Amino acid sequence: MNRSECEALDRDDPLAPKRGAFAIPEGLIYLDGNSLGVLPAHVPGRVRDVVETQWGGSLIRSWNEHGWLALPRRVGDRIARLIGAPAGSVVAGDTISVNLFKLLGAAAQLAGPRRVILSDDGNFPSDLYVAQGFRDLVDDGYALEIVAPEEVVDALDERVAFTMLTEVDYRTARRHDMRAVTAKAHARGARVIWDLAHSAGAIPVDLAAAGADFAVGCTYKYLNGGPGSPAFLYVRPDLQDIVRPPLTGWWGHAEPFAFTPDYRPAPGIDRFQCGTQPILSMAALDAALDVWDGVVMRDVREKSLALCSLFIDLVEERCARHGVTVTGPRETAARGSHVSLRHPQGHAVMQALIASGVVGDFRAPDMMRFGFAPLYTRFTDVFDAVAIMAGILDTRRWDEPRYHARRAVT
Ligand SMILES: *Cc1c(COP(=O)(O)O)cnc(C)c1O
Repeated sequence: MNRSECEALDRDDPLAPKRGAFAIPEGLIYLDGNSLGVLPAHVPGRVRDVVETQWGGSLIRSWNEHGWLALPRRVGDRIARLIGAPAGSVVAGDTISVNLFKLLGAAAQLAGPRRVILSDDGNFPSDLYVAQGFRDLVDDGYALEIVAPEEVVDALDERVAFTMLTEVDYRTARRHDMRAVTAKAHARGARVIWDLAHSAGAIPVDLAAAGADFAVGCTYKYLNGGPGSPAFLYVRPDLQDIVRPPLTGWWGHAEPFAFTPDYRPAPGIDRFQCGTQPILSMAALDAALDVWDGVVMRDVREKSLALCSLFIDLVEERCARHGVTVTGPRETAARGSHVSLRHPQGHAVMQALIASGVVGDFRAPDMMRFGFAPLYTRFTDVFDAVAIMAGILDTRRWDEPRYHARRAVT
């Protein structure tokens, strides 16, 4: 495909007007919305108002008058619409890692005598670390079994208490079949905890249709909530009142302002809250979610797949001869909204790309990762990014010493 064909795709793109809602730095091709989403242009004004009018003016009264107390539930309901969850089943707050710990504790209460936690080796390391901490803390015979992603379904046997899986692999974009895995787990008497970090806002998710038991996700990636914005968790409505999270803080208490010494869980999803939330971040997220108003996830998916396919085709045409290979599945149904490329000098190539105004990221050992956030990425961005990468590879510009230095965040 040539550049003018890409221009035509941009002209015909039903999501094209959405780009104007974002503050994208001039001249930057930002392909890292899967790591930190772009700032929606109206968010600074809204946050300024929360700081100056609410915090500055109303002070403590804001918990009631400006609805601060209700924000985690309100934001949760707005996210629920994007992941196929009913109102009252999602609450925003904390981080994925913390929420996962809460859900491991909840799922363990449904485990009976089963003691295997099943995951796969494509899972995000933090998820595996949290499971290890949980296993060691409860010290009750739990084993964490880690298999290859394609072996998960066969490994679901009657020893498995619950499986903990990330739907879209953070490196390869390989996607688990949420419906099939959940159905198999249930048939074997196991529960499933889904991590939607690379799903929410990237692909259509239907937790209710899949019958998923539990889920977590973050909001600073495709949902554009800002650095460290609150994560979310989902608990299927029929399970909410029969499990009790292990982090029993006052925000999950039935009557937090009764200040009684004994913990009593709130009914429903509220019991999965723990302590006071970062209201400024929560307000920024609440504002950021406005860009999703009226967006149909089917359109998002269609554009996402078209962007990914264009990228893959152009990379194979122009970069493969330099040893760049595309990872992850080619069938569109089996992938998410990012593409990782392998190259022995992937880190240096990515540094050279960033210096040339194309921002992606690097995942060890050799993956250059590019996210295609459909609300603001253009087909011409994809075309230009590959042209710049091909130039870097053709000239071996990545071999300059300054591109070999490693920084703390890759
Ligand atoms: C980004 C990401 C996380 C982040 O976890 P936090 O605890 O919110 O920092 C977790 N899981 C996956 C799969 C991710 O991609």
